Amino acid sequence: MAQEIGDYMAIIVQKYGGSSVADVDKIRNVARRVIKAKENGNNVVVVVSAMGKTTDGLIALARQVTDHPDVRELDVLLSTGELVSCTLLAIALKSMGHDAISLSGAQAGIQTDSVHSKARITNVEAKRMLKELKAGKIVVVAGFQGITSEMDVTTLGRGGSDTTAVALAIGVKADICETYTDVDGVYTADPRIVPEAQKLKVIGYEEMLELAGSGAKVLHLRSVELGEIYNMPILVASSFTEAPGTIIKRGLEMEVRNKVRGIAHDLNVAKVTILGVPDKPGIATKLFEALAKANISVDTIVQNASVERITDLTFTVARTDLDEAMRVVEPVVKSINAKGCVSDSKLGKVSIIGTGMQNTPGYAAKMFKAMFEAGINIELITTSEIRITCIIHEDKVKDAVRALHKAFELDKGEV
Ligand code: ADP
Ligand code: ASP
Ligand code: MG
Repeated sequence: MAQEIGDYMAIIVQKYGGSSVADVDKIRNVARRVIKAKENGNNVVVVVSAMGKTTDGLIALARQVTDHPDVRELDVLLSTGELVSCTLLAIALKSMGHDAISLSGAQAGIQTDSVHSKARITNVEAKRMLKELKAGKIVVVAGFQGITSEMDVTTLGRGGSDTTAVALAIGVKADICETYTDVDGVYTADPRIVPEAQKLKVIGYEEMLELAGSGAKVLHLRSVELGEIYNMPILVASSFTEAPGTIIKRGLEMEVRNKVRGIAHDLNVAKVTILGVPDKPGIATKLFEALAKANISVDTIVQNASVERITDLTFTVARTDLDEAMRVVEPVVKSINAKGCVSDSKLGKVSIIGTGMQNTPGYAAKMFKAMFEAGINIELITTSEIRITCIIHEDKVKDAVRALHKAFELDKGEV
């Protein structure tokens, strides 16, 4: 794997999240772990997130100036969070006697499109990183950021350092991408909500994609997408313990594929309903094209059968995109002669996920029964081949996760 730097040593990429670098002692702890990986005979690239809640703090600062900060400037501001942690880590490594170099996303060769605040990586030019590795250095890269062809700094969306790490692992042809965080693996549900949740030893990309896409923020969705496309194994483990963690990879045995593997939840959900939509061709295109142009991703879409050629159309978006979505939708509502438009931002979603659901009856019925018995009203339902999702009131999300975890017996036995 490491031929490009001219020796036989493996290359590994390690990523440490915000809580793992929250203060100087934790940064020293990360430095010791990185040194151990290096002393075990690996070339090491490290990706770090901003310290603790730095990103939230920077967003709040910009919002003190104005409700709608300019997106280009905001991206530069947010990128500074990761510059602080990556330079401090390089300083710590050097002070411990190891040669290291910090690189911003741009210096590391992370090229992106120009969609500020949710840019996508278009290419990783790994030359600089490989040169530094070849010189024996530990390369420390600022997560969550890249640069456009116009040399503007971009960020990759909240939680995006995971995506930086997997993209770099692919770029330097690493053997594995290891992500270290404040939990010691991927669990059957968020362990903060379900204390009985079980750690999964291994999970396939397909199931992990659905978990991450349904709100399990332990990995950024796009990091799993990249991992799957390039077949890059991803480890999720603790930065504070030596517990073995969860490995995400291809080609799992039949037994672990054959059941519900996890429950995911998401509180970042809002619903938009367009009332009295004329039932004729072209309406949906007008609406969803306008949303796509504004880079708003739409999740669930439900259109009722029409009565007297009039129907209602409901869709969900991230709550953080609701204001922008309403701004986009309002003129379209007028232009298509719909009656009006209403929104509800106090929603959440809960999903059951598992390849075992494919072609097997009974999962939906069991899910709805558990929700009913917990007194939870379901507003919308969507499915994929390996997932069933219910949109519900935000206040009921935690109860729903616990009820479903119990109903599908995820607290018991081998997972
Ligand atoms: P980092 O800052 O290290 O990137 P995050 O806060 O983004 O960490 O992700 C880790 C958190 O993800 C955990 O603290 C946990 O609360 C949450 N989480 C949600 N769903 C799961 C799950 N199924 N398994 C493990 N952690 C989960
Ligand atoms: N610092 C960024 C955030 O808080 C990116 C990351 O942590 O992955 O979202
Ligand atoms: Mg994260």
